Amino acid sequence: MSATYLLDLLYLIASLTFVVGLKMLSHPDTARRGNQVAAVGMGLAVMGTLLFHPSADRDLGDVRTFKLLLLYAALAIGGMIGWLAAYRVKMTSMPQMVSLFNGLGGGCAALLAVAELKLQYDGAGHDPISTGAMILVLFTMFFGSVSFTGSMLAYAKLEDMVKDSAITLPRHSVINMILLAGILGLIGYITWGAGENGMMWGLILFGIALVYGFMFVAPIGGADMPVVISVLNSFTGLTAAAAGIIYDNLVMLVGGILVGASGSILTILMCKAMNRSIMNVLVGSFGGGGAAGAGKAAGDQTIKEVSISDAAVLLNYSGSVVIVPGYGLAVAQAQKICKELDELLESNGVEVKYAIHPVAGRMPGHMNVLLAEADVPYPKLFDLEEANDIISKSDVVIVVGANDVVNPAAKDDPSSPIYGMPVLEVWEAKNVIVMKRSMKSGYAGIENELFFHARTKMLFGDAKDTLQKLVSEVKSL
Ligand code: NDP
Repeated sequence: MSATYLLDLLYLIASLTFVVGLKMLSHPDTARRGNQVAAVGMGLAVMGTLLFHPSADRDLGDVRTFKLLLLYAALAIGGMIGWLAAYRVKMTSMPQMVSLFNGLGGGCAALLAVAELKLQYDGAGHDPISTGAMILVLFTMFFGSVSFTGSMLAYAKLEDMVKDSAITLPRHSVINMILLAGILGLIGYITWGAGENGMMWGLILFGIALVYGFMFVAPIGGADMPVVISVLNSFTGLTAAAAGIIYDNLVMLVGGILVGASGSILTILMCKAMNRSIMNVLVGSFGGGGAAGAGKAAGDQTIKEVSISDAAVLLNYSGSVVIVPGYGLAVAQAQKICKELDELLESNGVEVKYAIHPVAGRMPGHMNVLLAEADVPYPKLFDLEEANDIISKSDVVIVVGANDVVNPAAKDDPSSPIYGMPVLEVWEAKNVIVMKRSMKSGYAGIENELFFHARTKMLFGDAKDTLQKLVSEVKSL
């Protein structure tokens, strides 16, 4: 079998593993295995390219060994960094890592496009590419650059390295529209009118696209970050797919399409969950910059606290309990003890269910992953639409480290930055117990009237400690 056939076969197998892996990722029981399947496929594709790609034999002149050494060194260092980062990352920092890696993927594709453009203009006898291919190269450069700087800024924001509001310019969305129009104009000019100056204009396009990526993410913050992360993810997928077409590389094309399509689907789902229109997302003008501190102030309202023993009695003698997990559950790593409380209550005849908000935590599916880790059976988890029905019929809702996703302002305060976002309407239950450490706000930085609601009782403390104490108390009843 010739090297080309072998490579095609490896690419086909790799593409299949991506499809199968992605399918397996859609269920918590098979997600881990799905990730491994796709990773093996990616490994095969990389190894196959190194060993069998026709360019591996290309005459690189005297510097061939040096260039190959550079390539293998980059692979080894990059692989090591990736492995260490994935090994060490805390579950609560996953979105930052996704942002960082996603941005690097976009940056890579943009640099490939710059290199391809250089080949076109360096006069070294490279075959000129078609108009369609040129447009693809320039779009790869555009989306890849936006994904790079946008993801880096998203990373910095998620890491609290920058303040959201500090980087919003006056008439920000107008500037964004002008930049976007300039980028599209340049793509047209380079393709049809720039002639020999194409490389220079290409570099200008590269620079503007990098700035646009930054400007695109700059005004976004607060509760809107999940949407932007998934938009950038789909951008990177699109650039990889476009690069796959440019280089006639099947596995790059399939991988890119899968990432682009799944990122786009996720974006649509996130937009629905956040009640944002996609157009708002694309012009980079959707809000959050003013999120911190906005919303109705709670004023001098008072809260009611509940003791561990009273909470235990309330839970143990009720018919149905709904647990609403949030980011605090992840911080406290309280999923296992949460499951223990669930089992204990169920063994005492209480029906326990979980209500999962699509943007609870810090990444899509965050709560599902955590609860799957604790072996909470999947049928006990209810998403937003079904959950609100169940909540309204339940005796007690326990909110474990959630805040924004249970904020009534989203429903009834038009001045709130999260107004219109569908939330879990926990205040409709007969009793609400909110577990958190203090009265501090959540990610969106806004007050939560739920804490002052007539049916709400606060149970302060770290979620893991509090749940542990509750378990002991219920056992002693
Ligand atoms: P929030 O960030 O709104 O609130 C989490 C709450 O958990 C805080 O108020 C905090 O209060 C409490 N908490 C923190 N640590 C602990 C602990 N150890 N024990 C007990 N409580 C703790 O979380 P939600 O899940 O309600 O909402 C998610 C937010 O994150 C949304 O605004 C969403 O848009 C945003 N987001 C979501 C992403 C996603 O893809 N899911 C990605 C990026 C952002 P205290 O400090 O008082 O304990």
